[in-house]
Amino acid sequence: MVVVLLGPPGVGKGTQGAVLAETFGWDRIITGDLLRAARREGSRLGRQAQAYMDRGDLVPDELIVAMVRERLEGLDAGIGVLFDGFPRNVAQGEALEAVLPEVDRQVDGVLLFTAPDDVLVKRGSGRRNCPDCGRLYNVYFDPPRTEGECDDCGEALVHRSDDEPETVRHRLDVYREQTEPLVRYYRESGAVVLEIDGDQSIDDVTQAARRALEDAFDLEGDAA
Ligand code: ADP
Ligand code: ADP
Ligand code: ZN
Repeated sequence: MVVVLLGPPGVGKGTQGAVLAETFGWDRIITGDLLRAARREGSRLGRQAQAYMDRGDLVPDELIVAMVRERLEGLDAGIGVLFDGFPRNVAQGEALEAVLPEVDRQVDGVLLFTAPDDVLVKRGSGRRNCPDCGRLYNVYFDPPRTEGECDDCGEALVHRSDDEPETVRHRLDVYREQTEPLVRYYRESGAVVLEIDGDQSIDDVTQAARRALEDAFDLEGDAA
Protein backbone atom coordinates (compact mmCIF):
# COMPACT_ATOMS: atom_id res chain seq x y z
CA MET A 1 0.00 0.00 0.00
CA VAL A 2 1.13 3.50 -0.81
CA VAL A 3 -1.04 6.33 0.51
CA VAL A 4 -0.41 10.05 -0.02
CA LEU A 5 -1.64 12.55 2.56
CA LEU A 6 -2.77 15.76 0.91
CA GLY A 7 -4.05 18.94 2.49
CA PRO A 8 -3.00 22.46 3.47
CA PRO A 9 -0.39 23.24 6.15
CA GLY A 10 -1.84 22.69 9.61
CA VAL A 11 -4.75 20.50 8.55
CA GLY A 12 -3.49 17.52 10.55
CA LYS A 13 -1.45 15.37 8.15
CA GLY A 14 1.33 14.79 10.67
CA THR A 15 -1.06 14.17 13.55
CA GLN A 16 -3.22 11.72 11.61
CA GLY A 17 -0.29 10.13 9.80
CA ALA A 18 1.25 9.11 13.13
CA VAL A 19 -1.93 7.33 14.24
CA LEU A 20 -2.73 5.75 10.88
CA ALA A 21 0.82 4.44 10.39
CA GLU A 22 0.65 2.88 13.84
CA THR A 23 -2.81 1.42 13.21
CA PHE A 24 -1.94 -0.21 9.91
CA GLY A 25 1.75 -0.92 10.57
CA TRP A 26 2.99 1.40 7.81
CA ASP A 27 6.17 3.43 7.44
CA ARG A 28 6.04 7.19 6.91
CA ILE A 29 8.07 9.43 4.64
CA ILE A 30 7.71 12.98 5.97
CA THR A 31 9.64 15.36 3.75
CA GLY A 32 9.29 18.34 6.12
CA ASP A 33 10.81 16.31 8.99
CA LEU A 34 13.60 14.99 6.75
CA LEU A 35 14.44 18.55 5.70
CA ARG A 36 14.36 19.88 9.26
CA ALA A 37 16.68 17.03 10.32
CA ALA A 38 19.05 17.91 7.46
CA ARG A 39 19.06 21.52 8.65
CA ARG A 40 19.85 20.54 12.23
CA GLU A 41 22.72 18.37 11.02
CA GLY A 42 23.95 21.22 8.86
CA SER A 43 24.26 18.92 5.83
CA ARG A 44 24.55 20.25 2.28
CA LEU A 45 20.86 19.50 1.67
CA GLY A 46 19.94 21.32 4.89
CA ARG A 47 21.88 24.41 3.85
CA GLN A 48 20.37 24.36 0.37
CA ALA A 49 16.83 24.05 1.74
CA GLN A 50 17.05 26.65 4.49
CA ALA A 51 16.11 29.88 2.72
CA TYR A 52 13.15 28.30 0.90
CA MET A 53 11.75 26.83 4.11
CA ASP A 54 12.14 30.08 6.05
CA ARG A 55 10.13 31.92 3.41
CA GLY A 56 7.51 29.16 3.23
CA ASP A 57 8.36 28.41 -0.39
CA LEU A 58 8.89 24.96 -1.84
CA VAL A 59 12.40 23.54 -1.88
CA PRO A 60 13.49 22.70 -5.48
CA ASP A 61 12.05 19.46 -6.81
CA GLU A 62 15.35 17.78 -7.65
CA LEU A 63 16.57 18.01 -4.05
CA ILE A 64 13.30 16.62 -2.73
CA VAL A 65 12.98 13.81 -5.24
CA ALA A 66 16.55 12.61 -4.58
CA MET A 67 15.86 12.63 -0.85
CA VAL A 68 12.60 10.69 -1.24
CA ARG A 69 14.15 8.15 -3.59
CA GLU A 70 16.89 7.42 -1.10
CA ARG A 71 14.38 6.92 1.73
CA LEU A 72 12.14 4.73 -0.40
CA GLU A 73 15.00 2.45 -1.38
CA GLY A 74 15.83 1.92 2.28
CA LEU A 75 12.33 0.73 3.20
CA ASP A 76 11.17 -2.81 3.71
CA ALA A 77 9.48 -3.91 0.46
CA GLY A 78 6.52 -5.59 2.16
CA ILE A 79 5.47 -2.63 4.26
CA GLY A 80 2.93 0.08 3.42
CA VAL A 81 4.14 3.66 3.00
CA LEU A 82 2.41 6.88 3.95
CA PHE A 83 3.72 10.03 2.28
CA ASP A 84 3.32 13.23 4.29
CA GLY A 85 4.29 16.49 2.59
CA PHE A 86 5.20 14.87 -0.72
CA PRO A 87 4.36 15.23 -3.54
CA ARG A 88 3.86 18.97 -3.26
CA ASN A 89 3.27 19.81 -6.93
CA VAL A 90 2.40 17.97 -10.13
CA ALA A 91 6.06 17.64 -11.17
CA GLN A 92 6.78 15.83 -7.89
CA GLY A 93 3.68 13.67 -8.46
CA GLU A 94 5.03 12.66 -11.84
CA ALA A 95 8.48 12.00 -10.36
CA LEU A 96 6.92 9.76 -7.72
CA GLU A 97 4.99 7.91 -10.40
CA ALA A 98 8.29 7.27 -12.19
CA VAL A 99 10.16 6.14 -9.07
CA LEU A 100 7.59 3.83 -7.47
CA PRO A 101 7.66 1.08 -10.13
CA GLU A 102 11.41 0.74 -9.47
CA VAL A 103 10.48 -0.54 -6.02
CA ASP A 104 7.38 -2.41 -7.27
CA ARG A 105 4.89 0.05 -5.91
CA GLN A 106 2.25 2.54 -7.05
CA VAL A 107 0.09 5.17 -5.38
CA ASP A 108 -3.03 3.34 -4.23
CA GLY A 109 -4.86 6.01 -2.30
CA VAL A 110 -4.89 9.68 -1.45
CA LEU A 111 -6.32 11.06 1.78
CA LEU A 112 -7.34 14.66 1.19
CA PHE A 113 -7.88 16.64 4.40
CA THR A 114 -9.67 19.99 4.35
CA ALA A 115 -10.32 22.81 6.84
CA PRO A 116 -11.04 26.56 6.61
CA ASP A 117 -8.06 28.94 6.46
CA ASP A 118 -8.71 30.62 9.82
CA VAL A 119 -8.61 27.20 11.51
CA LEU A 120 -5.33 26.42 9.75
CA VAL A 121 -3.68 29.69 10.82
CA LYS A 122 -4.73 29.11 14.45
CA ARG A 123 -3.46 25.53 14.39
CA GLY A 124 -0.16 26.69 12.94
CA SER A 125 0.31 29.37 15.55
CA GLY A 126 -0.38 26.85 18.34
CA ARG A 127 1.72 24.03 16.90
CA ARG A 128 4.66 22.77 18.96
CA ASN A 129 6.76 19.74 18.25
CA CYS A 130 9.30 17.63 20.01
CA PRO A 131 12.70 17.98 18.30
CA ASP A 132 13.65 14.57 19.64
CA CYS A 133 10.78 12.18 18.83
CA GLY A 134 8.78 14.38 16.45
CA ARG A 135 5.54 14.18 18.44
CA LEU A 136 3.14 17.04 17.70
CA TYR A 137 1.26 19.16 20.20
CA ASN A 138 -0.94 22.22 20.09
CA VAL A 139 -1.10 24.80 22.86
CA TYR A 140 -4.79 25.40 22.13
CA PHE A 141 -6.08 22.00 21.07
CA ASP A 142 -3.71 19.30 22.26
CA PRO A 143 -1.31 20.57 24.94
CA PRO A 144 1.37 18.46 26.63
CA ARG A 145 0.84 17.47 30.28
CA THR A 146 3.62 19.84 31.40
CA GLU A 147 3.79 23.14 29.55
CA GLY A 148 6.60 23.21 27.00
CA GLU A 149 7.75 19.59 27.56
CA CYS A 150 7.26 16.43 25.51
CA ASP A 151 5.11 13.86 27.36
CA ASP A 152 7.17 11.03 25.91
CA CYS A 153 10.74 12.22 26.33
CA GLY A 154 10.72 15.40 28.42
CA GLU A 155 12.45 17.44 25.69
CA ALA A 156 11.69 21.16 25.42
CA LEU A 157 9.08 21.65 22.67
CA VAL A 158 9.79 24.01 19.78
CA HIS A 159 7.68 26.34 17.66
CA ARG A 160 8.58 26.36 13.97
CA SER A 161 9.57 29.80 12.71
CA ASP A 162 7.59 29.12 9.52
CA ASP A 163 4.45 28.77 11.68
CA GLU A 164 4.22 32.52 12.28
CA PRO A 165 0.82 33.66 10.93
CA GLU A 166 2.31 35.63 8.04
CA THR A 167 4.38 32.68 6.81
CA VAL A 168 1.47 30.28 7.31
CA ARG A 169 -0.64 32.52 5.07
CA HIS A 170 2.07 32.45 2.42
CA ARG A 171 2.30 28.65 2.71
CA LEU A 172 -1.47 28.49 2.21
CA ASP A 173 -1.09 30.46 -1.04
CA VAL A 174 1.69 28.12 -2.13
CA TYR A 175 -0.59 25.18 -1.32
CA ARG A 176 -3.46 26.57 -3.38
CA GLU A 177 -1.26 27.41 -6.35
CA GLN A 178 1.13 24.48 -6.47
CA THR A 179 -0.16 21.58 -4.38
CA GLU A 180 -3.92 21.62 -4.89
CA PRO A 181 -3.64 20.78 -8.62
CA LEU A 182 -2.50 17.34 -7.43
CA VAL A 183 -6.08 16.58 -6.38
CA ARG A 184 -7.18 16.64 -9.98
CA TYR A 185 -4.00 14.87 -11.06
CA TYR A 186 -4.75 11.95 -8.74
CA ARG A 187 -8.45 11.85 -9.58
CA GLU A 188 -7.52 11.54 -13.25
CA SER A 189 -4.78 9.00 -12.61
CA GLY A 190 -7.24 6.50 -11.16
CA ALA A 191 -5.95 6.58 -7.57
CA VAL A 192 -8.67 6.44 -4.93
CA VAL A 193 -9.11 9.95 -3.49
CA LEU A 194 -10.74 9.94 -0.05
CA GLU A 195 -11.87 13.35 1.18
CA ILE A 196 -11.83 13.82 4.94
CA ASP A 197 -13.25 16.77 6.87
CA GLY A 198 -10.25 17.91 8.91
CA ASP A 199 -12.28 20.46 10.86
CA GLN A 200 -13.35 18.08 13.62
CA SER A 201 -11.69 16.86 16.80
CA ILE A 202 -8.45 14.93 16.32
CA ASP A 203 -10.20 11.66 17.28
CA ASP A 204 -13.12 12.22 14.92
CA VAL A 205 -10.76 12.93 12.02
CA THR A 206 -8.86 9.75 12.85
CA GLN A 207 -12.07 7.70 12.87
CA ALA A 208 -13.18 9.14 9.53
CA ALA A 209 -9.79 8.56 7.88
CA ARG A 210 -9.45 5.08 9.26
CA ARG A 211 -12.91 4.05 8.16
CA ALA A 212 -12.43 5.52 4.70
CA LEU A 213 -9.20 3.53 4.25
CA GLU A 214 -10.68 0.32 5.62
CA ASP A 215 -13.71 0.57 3.33
CA ALA A 216 -11.76 1.51 0.22
CA PHE A 217 -9.00 -1.08 0.59
CA ASP A 218 -10.48 -3.85 2.68
CA LEU A 219 -7.90 -3.23 5.39
CA GLU A 220 -8.10 -4.04 9.02
CA GLY A 221 -6.12 -1.97 11.48
CA ASP A 222 -5.17 -2.83 15.04
CA ALA A 223 -7.75 -1.74 17.58
CA ALA A 224 -6.66 1.66 18.91
P1 ADP B 1 3.27 21.35 6.84
O1 ADP B 1 3.23 19.97 7.45
O2 ADP B 1 2.85 22.39 7.84
O3 ADP B 1 2.49 21.45 5.57
P2 ADP B 1 5.95 20.65 6.12
O4 ADP B 1 6.64 20.24 7.36
O5 ADP B 1 5.43 19.56 5.24
O6 ADP B 1 4.78 21.67 6.51
O7 ADP B 1 6.90 21.54 5.22
C1 ADP B 1 7.65 22.61 5.74
C2 ADP B 1 8.48 23.22 4.64
O8 ADP B 1 9.41 22.25 4.13
C3 ADP B 1 7.68 23.67 3.43
O9 ADP B 1 7.16 24.97 3.59
C4 ADP B 1 8.75 23.60 2.32
O10 ADP B 1 9.63 24.70 2.39
C5 ADP B 1 9.54 22.37 2.72
N1 ADP B 1 9.01 21.13 2.08
C6 ADP B 1 8.49 20.04 2.72
N2 ADP B 1 8.14 19.09 1.83
C7 ADP B 1 8.43 19.59 0.61
C8 ADP B 1 8.30 19.11 -0.73
N3 ADP B 1 7.76 17.89 -0.98
N4 ADP B 1 8.69 19.91 -1.74
C9 ADP B 1 9.23 21.11 -1.52
N5 ADP B 1 9.38 21.64 -0.30
C10 ADP B 1 9.00 20.90 0.76
P1 ADP C 1 0.08 19.29 9.06
O1 ADP C 1 1.04 18.13 9.16
O2 ADP C 1 -1.02 19.04 8.08
O3 ADP C 1 0.77 20.59 8.81
P2 ADP C 1 -0.24 18.91 11.92
O4 ADP C 1 -0.62 17.49 12.09
O5 ADP C 1 1.16 19.29 12.23
O6 ADP C 1 -0.66 19.44 10.45
O7 ADP C 1 -1.24 19.78 12.82
C1 ADP C 1 -1.07 21.19 12.94
C2 ADP C 1 -1.33 21.58 14.38
O8 ADP C 1 -2.74 21.45 14.67
C3 ADP C 1 -0.62 20.73 15.43
O9 ADP C 1 -0.28 21.56 16.51
C4 ADP C 1 -1.66 19.71 15.85
O10 ADP C 1 -1.48 19.32 17.20
C5 ADP C 1 -2.98 20.49 15.68
N1 ADP C 1 -4.09 19.66 15.19
C6 ADP C 1 -4.05 18.66 14.29
N2 ADP C 1 -5.27 18.15 14.05
C7 ADP C 1 -6.14 18.86 14.85
C8 ADP C 1 -7.58 18.80 15.06
N3 ADP C 1 -8.35 17.92 14.41
N4 ADP C 1 -8.09 19.69 15.93
C9 ADP C 1 -7.30 20.58 16.59
N5 ADP C 1 -5.96 20.69 16.43
C10 ADP C 1 -5.38 19.81 15.58
ZN1 ZN D 1 9.41 13.65 22.40
